[in-house]
Amino acid sequence: MTKPLILVVEDEPGIADTIAYALGSDGFTPEVCASGAEAVARFAARPPQLAILDIGLPDMNGFELFRQLQSLPGGKDVPLVFLTARSGEIDRVVGLELGADDYIAKPFSPRELVARVRTILRRSQRAAAARPAAGQQDQEKKMPSGHDGIARGAIKNEVSVEAGPFLHDAGRRLIRYHGQPLELSRYEYGLLATLIQRPGRVFTRDELLQQVWDDPAASFDRTVDAHIKTLRAKLRAVRDSEDPIRTLRGVGYALREDLP
Ligand code: CA
Repeated sequence: MTKPLILVVEDEPGIADTIAYALGSDGFTPEVCASGAEAVARFAARPPQLAILDIGLPDMNGFELFRQLQSLPGGKDVPLVFLTARSGEIDRVVGLELGADDYIAKPFSPRELVARVRTILRRSQRAAAARPAAGQQDQEKKMPSGHDGIARGAIKNEVSVEAGPFLHDAGRRLIRYHGQPLELSRYEYGLLATLIQRPGRVFTRDELLQQVWDDPAASFDRTVDAHIKTLRAKLRAVRDSEDPIRTLRGVGYALREDLP
């Protein structure tokens, strides 16, 4: 079997060398680029199995590079990992809703990065194997999972649950807050749906990862925090004066029970 090609876009030679060495000694073929333009050219010439993008690049930022790579043939099929140096960047990555496992915060350990790459590759190979046909991919992505529950034989918990100002219609994957339907990402929805099931019950970050994420081992506690943050912002947009989610420092989160 050939070694998976991993495109590494990082302008700091020290970091690029560390990543390339870690990947190279663990069964991967790293290809290092120091700029976005070079990355686009290499990607177009030979799409890698996975790409690691630094966000702070000399000629464009990692988000712009991400968009350019996505527009290349086959670009949407290549999983991406962002390297971020600041927590503000993590919020942006999460905000893009590329999936929770799409970033690694600097400083990181090379072993952690390689483990992450391995997990993401395994998952994307599984997903590719499960894909019915290439033409249906885009359609599937637009459809929230569970929407076509009958076809997948996966109808469960199709009851509406009310918890204070929340009304959860599980069959529709819809949560209303003070009567207003919320537009939630997959993870925000999963987190809120879990909290709503048991108002007052404290869920640890680890429990939330287990409940909501497909691959909890590849995610971090901080991922939960980042999605709770974006979820809170959406709730605040509906009712500014209210924070229905309690934070238990160092432990986890709970839905407040004393809500009108
Ligand atoms: Ca940089």
